Amino acid sequence: MSDVRLTLEEVRDLAMRGLRVSGVSQENATVIADVMTTAEQDGCKSHGLFRMPGYCACVRSGRVDGKIAPALHDDAPGVIRVDAQHGFAAPAMAAGRPKLAEKARAQGIATMPIVNAHHFAALWYDVDALVEDGLVAFAFVNSRSFVAPAGGIRKLYGTNPMAFGWPRPGKPPMIFDQASSASARGEIQLHLRDGHSIPEGWAIDPNGNPTTDPEAGLAGAQLPFGGHKGAAIAMMVELLAVGLTGCKFGFESAQDENTDGGPSEGGELLIAMDPARFGGTGDSTATLAHAETLFSEILQEEGTRLPSDRRYIARQQTPTEGITIPETLHKTILECCET
Ligand code: NDP
Repeated sequence: MSDVRLTLEEVRDLAMRGLRVSGVSQENATVIADVMTTAEQDGCKSHGLFRMPGYCACVRSGRVDGKIAPALHDDAPGVIRVDAQHGFAAPAMAAGRPKLAEKARAQGIATMPIVNAHHFAALWYDVDALVEDGLVAFAFVNSRSFVAPAGGIRKLYGTNPMAFGWPRPGKPPMIFDQASSASARGEIQLHLRDGHSIPEGWAIDPNGNPTTDPEAGLAGAQLPFGGHKGAAIAMMVELLAVGLTGCKFGFESAQDENTDGGPSEGGELLIAMDPARFGGTGDSTATLAHAETLFSEILQEEGTRLPSDRRYIARQQTPTEGITIPETLHKTILECCET
């Protein structure tokens, strides 16, 4: 299978064209194209152009409203709720983020539930701008039911990622972003596409047997990372992103699904904290400087790195080197750009 090399400008242009032709408004397409372009820029293939056919198909099928504008509700001093109104999560995130930051600075901490949203992105993107802006931030989002609970074999939880970001003066922030499943579903799909087997421990087949066959793993259930500990995190994410925000759990939204390849509808919760408000000084300088000593201790040892460092290395390279996608995906994306 040969690859097609693209500049980041070409990635953005393809994303915009496909989304617009599929029925996404200019404003929403601009945000979503940035999500995919930034994923490609940071070397996160499972959430870059790979997602483009799914974005376009779920708008074309009418399951996701590509034109709807998110609605902001100032529910409480510490809560700004954004209703995506059955559209994508990314425009809702973009619409609510300034208000969330403003509330977090005013009070030290604030939250932003995003409801009725279709989330199809890498979660680090959602905290990145908040953390670049000096805030500590968490994000939790649920997905379609793919993951068996500890001891079970039935798909119940989503792959339910959580992200956490910490600002670093003069440096890009530390952000970790991890699914509560042993792998992201997109990673299994990429292994299937590329004809590779998956590592043991990622999934079980429909009979509950361990499998390294990506097709059998996709048909069966994904496993939480770390057994019952990852399962507890998956449950927590489901409760924070969905239980708390009044959306549908993954198992409840299963009946609304079709096979268009797009994301299910669910909820997301953002929490932002101003580090200036927690150290008793009204200033974040000492707090952030102290945290740097932890990072230094970690990095003293050979073989260590901070989460997100891999992305930052890719971010240095892709603006000049461009990115590659398989020819087959490129062809599918060009088809998305046709009427
Ligand atoms: P990974 O296991 O690849 O990475 C998890 C985190 O660990 C990343 O922050 C990564 O940083 C960091 N990391 C990896 N290796 C090391 C190391 N050696 N030392 C320190 N840190 C390290 O991610 P997942 O497979 O769990 O998830 C992939 C993506 O899928 C995520 O972006 C997630 O948000 C997304 N996803 C989205 C869903 C949705 O519904 N929207 C559902 C599920 C997942 P780095 O990036 O620098 O490698």
